[in-house]
Amino acid sequence: MSISNNLTQIKSQIPPHVTLVAVSKTKPVADLMEAYDAGQRIFGENYVQELVEKHEQMPKDIQWHFIGHLQSRKVKLIAPFVSLIHGVDSLKLLQEINKQAAKNNRVIVCLLQIHIAEEESKFGLDEQELDEILKQVQNDNENYKNIRIVGLMGMATFTENQNQIEKEFQNLKSIFDKVSQLSTENCQLNTLSMGMSGDYQLAISCGSTMVRIGSSIFGTRNYQ
Ligand SMILES: *Cc1c(COP(=O)(O)O)cnc(C)c1O
Repeated sequence: MSISNNLTQIKSQIPPHVTLVAVSKTKPVADLMEAYDAGQRIFGENYVQELVEKHEQMPKDIQWHFIGHLQSRKVKLIAPFVSLIHGVDSLKLLQEINKQAAKNNRVIVCLLQIHIAEEESKFGLDEQELDEILKQVQNDNENYKNIRIVGLMGMATFTENQNQIEKEFQNLKSIFDKVSQLSTENCQLNTLSMGMSGDYQLAISCGSTMVRIGSSIFGTRNYQ
């Protein structure tokens, strides 16, 4: 199967209210261009340096999403162009994003990452930390003028157990439903980023509005 066939196939399985992020980490620009030529405009990358290089090489009408774990000191490298940061998991990081966005005269749109998996290794906030961050941002609008929190992101446990994955997605959806009631100038949560190649259909059935799909589009990745 070619990349464009894979895209067509996946798009036919995604309802119109769900946004497809093509996760292109580790893949060469030629592969991304194939997806671009097939109409894909939203790409997701995990590594700052790789994202910066691909942004330089690819057409300028692409929306680049950063979906990996972002270190504060690297925010400045992507702040000029990134269109959505998925994995924000601390107030400190949010403050740095705000600062760098201000320097670039931009508003950077962010999702807060929630820890829903069993694994310790997956990053993210618990519900209490989420509430604290939202409160802080909403009560201090003045200091967060250059960010906008538009939703939540989460990753399920890496397991074959569909019931467990479903439970974790349902948990994230219920947290999302609670916080999406809140709305202030810089917080209007309407995006729920959950679901990857192995579980996107389940994620959509649990209420996902944004899926991040890599290997089903570009093939399996080789990490060296
Ligand atoms: C790599 C990655 C994906 C895509 O994974 P696939 O299983 O290849 O679809 C999605 N989200 C995040 C955060 C990732 O790191």
